[in-house]
Amino acid sequence: MVFNFSKSNLPKQLFINNEYVASKNSKKLELYNPKDNSLVANDIDLAGAEDVDAAIAAAEKAFPAWKKLSAKARRDIMYKFAALIEEHEVALAELSRITLGAPYGSFGKFETLLCAEAFRYNAGWIDKFAGESFPQEDGFLKIVRNEPLGVTAGIVPWNGPLGTAGLKAAPALATGNCFILKPSEKTPFASLALGPLIIEAGFPPGVFQVLSGDGVTGSLISSHMRIRKVSFTGSIATGKRIQEAAAKSNLKRVTLELGGKSPAVVFDDADLQNAITWTANALTANTGQVCFAATRVYVQEGIYDKFVEGYKKALLEKAKTIGDPDAESTVMGPLIDKAQFDRVTGFIERGKSGQGTLLTGGSRVGDTGFFIQPTVFTDVEAEAEIITEEIFGPVSVLNSFKTEEEILEKSNNTNFGLMAGVFTQDINKALRVASEFDSGMVGINCVSLMMLSTPFGGTKESGLGRECGRAALRAFTDQKTIMINMTY
Ligand code: NAD
Repeated sequence: MVFNFSKSNLPKQLFINNEYVASKNSKKLELYNPKDNSLVANDIDLAGAEDVDAAIAAAEKAFPAWKKLSAKARRDIMYKFAALIEEHEVALAELSRITLGAPYGSFGKFETLLCAEAFRYNAGWIDKFAGESFPQEDGFLKIVRNEPLGVTAGIVPWNGPLGTAGLKAAPALATGNCFILKPSEKTPFASLALGPLIIEAGFPPGVFQVLSGDGVTGSLISSHMRIRKVSFTGSIATGKRIQEAAAKSNLKRVTLELGGKSPAVVFDDADLQNAITWTANALTANTGQVCFAATRVYVQEGIYDKFVEGYKKALLEKAKTIGDPDAESTVMGPLIDKAQFDRVTGFIERGKSGQGTLLTGGSRVGDTGFFIQPTVFTDVEAEAEIITEEIFGPVSVLNSFKTEEEILEKSNNTNFGLMAGVFTQDINKALRVASEFDSGMVGINCVSLMMLSTPFGGTKESGLGRECGRAALRAFTDQKTIMINMTY
């Protein structure tokens, strides 16, 4: 099967058992381009119960041999798959862009290559994540093995279609599981297009499958008795539903990567320009549709005025780069769709009526498509919804603070706990604050970033479990203890 997908040749069918097949479900997905709201397609398959069952049956058949495949053979397949993604990254990024609107240079390339890198990184672990053995004690030798779970699934959001898929698929497959990917109903194309690359890399039929679908498809997966693990990235509300479905079905393992409202704390002694650059980039990458975006910025009184001036200037510069996501010069594309546009502008309009002072932005750009200015409110009260809720657009709140104690209390006064950033040149203060943040990740003199080699995830309602690093492999395995009677 040759990879020849493009915006004029979209993948529209489910990828089951290494073949494209039509869904047994008569419902179809309808998708629009966020740059002009033009129809992209209205005939994309959605997996229903029969399709989910077919994929699970194929995965169950493939699992015994895949699990036993040599480390080298599995690694070679994963490396080849990574290379194939890189070879086709421009086309894959375009397939995401036509419904997400993320420009290639500022986001599309990064998130597509993240998928390839995740495969490389996890392939490198295959022969290093076998388990442990313990010294003989009382005549017993003990071996603990990390065993694959069987049929596993990843349910992903729209804001990083291939990146979020790779963070789940790669550790699942590296540890010997079969994996079913369910992309978001808003961004199915890049995932569906992986079929020829899966075949060419050498994944046997049933090992790596893609089921496009909506929340109904997702719930069929999360409540299925024969799926042993769901790794989910998306909203808190859906994450809770998935955990409930897992508990009510077969107690499948669950990893949840959910929302955020991450603070960036800038002390008087910070490198001002560095703090401005990181916080402005964090707010505008992927038009603010990033779970770990720093959307609450707190600046100490001594440099507050200068920060306000610099942050506003940086965001006005970013606003000049808003435009057609297909143009090379564009840094900020549109929000993904009308629903997201209405949600973000709703927060902005309510924010304008008394929740804070509008510093910059606050308006739509153009009258077609879903473009919006980077928007900042200052002097926002602690209970205002623009400071307590995840907006998932380029909207931040900027407040001043006096003391370290005060700012830790404010930073942690939220149900979220994904990321936090602290900007200071005092290393003791930086480490003190970093250890007091109630969050899964902390940046010192940086914010809103991730690394494949270290755990990624949140505390409190930002999630459960971790992706990336060794933690991701752990999350797709169960430990088995084998006790050997050496006296026998
Ligand atoms: P969403 O929860 O609406 O949807 C995510 C996925 O879940 C989609 O594939 C959807 O089809 C599926 N789904 C919906 N209802 C379901 C159900 N009842 N059972 C099973 N699956 C179901 O989220 P979204 O709007 O696509 O994504 C935005 C959210 O994702 C934001 O809150 C953002 O912060 C979060 N996010 C978190 C991370 C992270 O790593 N922490 C990364 C990216 C996005």
